[in-house]
Amino acid sequence: MSGQRYIGRFAPSPTGPLHAGSLVAALASWLDAKAHNGLWLVRIEDVDSTRCLAGLDQVILQQLAACGLQSDAPPWYQTQRSSAYQQALESLVQQSMSYPCACSRKDIETALQIGGREKLRHAELIYPGTCRAGLHGKRARTWRFKADFYKENWPLALMEQAQSAPDFEENQSIHWMDRRLGQQEQDVPKAVGDFVLKRADGCFAYQLAVVLDDADQGITDVVRGEDLADNTARQILLQRALHLPMPRYLHTPLVLGANGEKLSKQNGAQALDLIQPMHALNQAAAVLGLTASEAAFPAEALPGWVSQWQAKPHPV
Ligand code: GLU
Repeated sequence: MSGQRYIGRFAPSPTGPLHAGSLVAALASWLDAKAHNGLWLVRIEDVDSTRCLAGLDQVILQQLAACGLQSDAPPWYQTQRSSAYQQALESLVQQSMSYPCACSRKDIETALQIGGREKLRHAELIYPGTCRAGLHGKRARTWRFKADFYKENWPLALMEQAQSAPDFEENQSIHWMDRRLGQQEQDVPKAVGDFVLKRADGCFAYQLAVVLDDADQGITDVVRGEDLADNTARQILLQRALHLPMPRYLHTPLVLGANGEKLSKQNGAQALDLIQPMHALNQAAAVLGLTASEAAFPAEALPGWVSQWQAKPHPV
């Protein structure tokens, strides 16, 4: 790695305790940070306060501590970051990269039916752009990001970046290299459309919060579960729009539940056993291609896994 000190992070949402699936991302991000002699920061992603449960942040921090995974700095909380998010939103609005939107879900469904357009993406509607032309006296509900801002009015700074950056190519899709998944590509305007930065209930959206937090914490490496890989192109677009550096990305394998879907509270994931954390840690290590440890305590097992991680030609 060139010059800059590695800073990684684990960013759980306090919507449930850690389970076998989330521990894989926690362990991988910790190992990658330690293998690079870097810092590992925990960030509590409580931006969507409607889904967060009181006290779950402490439960998660205790679970991490029981597994020997300690943040190298006091944890950040997104609920304390609203003014940074608001400032960034205002700067995007000033540059016409974000606009207010009055559409309810029903309005969007109706517009999509009339236009006969592709409707769903992971159960989310691809916004047809109705309010780009103005609110026409209606009340703003949300603020959206103009996903094709760089296509219609490409500011000079972005143009310069684009000529040197490999992640914008001729078809103007976002291209990026994932350390495990390899070369990735997404045409955000087509695949996702204008996405929400601030929601109708006043909460800032995950996409905006995560991009600002990663930049403000100096994160050089994002290591997280593969279910989040699909957000990366949107996050790169926001980084470009806000002139923020782009971290490297590594998306880790998912642990599947009995129904073949990503393990979650909804399909029976059990909270980690704090009394015997080695069982869960060994399982997570196996998912990451590391050998099981005979050690009785995490503090004895972790250094061996750091060495194994360092010795691997590919991270996972
Ligand atoms: N807070 C997200 C989650 O718990 C993770 C976000 C990220 O790592 O970018 O799924």
